[in-house]
Amino acid sequence: MLGAEGYVFELERRGYIKAGPYVPEVVLDFPDAVRELHREFLRAGADVMVALTYYAHREKLKTVGRENDLEALNRQALRVANEVAREGDALVAGDICNTWAYDPKNKEASSRVVRAMYEEQLSWAVDEGIDFVIAETNDYLGESLIALQVIKELGLPAMVTLASTRPQQTWDGYDYVDACQILADKGADIVGLNCDRGPATMLPIIERVRRRVSSYVAAQPVPYKTDPAMPTFESLKTASGTRAFPIALEPFLCTRFEMAAYAQRAKALGVNYIGVCCGGAPHYVRAMAEALGRTVPASRYSPAIELHPMIGAHVEEKEKQFLVDWKG
Ligand SMILES: [Zn+2]
Repeated sequence: MLGAEGYVFELERRGYIKAGPYVPEVVLDFPDAVRELHREFLRAGADVMVALTYYAHREKLKTVGRENDLEALNRQALRVANEVAREGDALVAGDICNTWAYDPKNKEASSRVVRAMYEEQLSWAVDEGIDFVIAETNDYLGESLIALQVIKELGLPAMVTLASTRPQQTWDGYDYVDACQILADKGADIVGLNCDRGPATMLPIIERVRRRVSSYVAAQPVPYKTDPAMPTFESLKTASGTRAFPIALEPFLCTRFEMAAYAQRAKALGVNYIGVCCGGAPHYVRAMAEALGRTVPASRYSPAIELHPMIGAHVEEKEKQFLVDWKG
């Protein structure tokens, strides 16, 4: 399966979501923008239209004063995802995520709050129609287990992926591989990681997860050049020491070729759901799809650099001046 996410970051770049709160108000305010991005991911080869309900939970909508729009926003996001999925043959995923309400020190009471948020979001998702649920960007194994339980109670397939800024562990102290094993044992159909890490620092963990679990495995890295010294996009710093996250990350972006190579590597490792998270965009997804051997609708406009007038196969004599290297 080829996944495509990064809706929130991409729509922020396009001017429809406010960086900081990152609440997807765009779903109600500019539904055509959401529809168009779904369509672009679909044309790029995405097998799943993920409803843009990331951060569309009660806790987050409260922070921007739109708690009353909660149900309308969720339903609209699901309708738009369904509508575009039918333009191709994509599946539709409901989406729930980290809530910022979970507190391991106050586990019982906070779990009740989290559970109620997941239950209301997923009741609307079931109502509007979904094929499975993605519970993503889980900093805590404990919180992801609540999500899994709610999904399973609804009888739906569950993809649960962890994300944490800690090097080897979730925020509640579980090694990623152990945490994925626990999720698989408790009935998650697909387990893995999303967000935070670029391909270079996510795949080594995913490789260990793949060796351990017998369920399907998902990888949805961010398309940024993380490395062992700066393993997450939150830790990326420029040469002058400024933090790049979250809105000055461009110098660290992977090229489409690097994302294509990541997709091939993930496939070779036995990853079943190969996707992309924050920073993802349609050109990456198309490059990944093509690297996996597919021809997708957007392949009609894939690069043909041999036709470029300056660097193509046939450069006219009068055009050769454009390639003279700059020597000052
Ligand atoms: Zn992300």
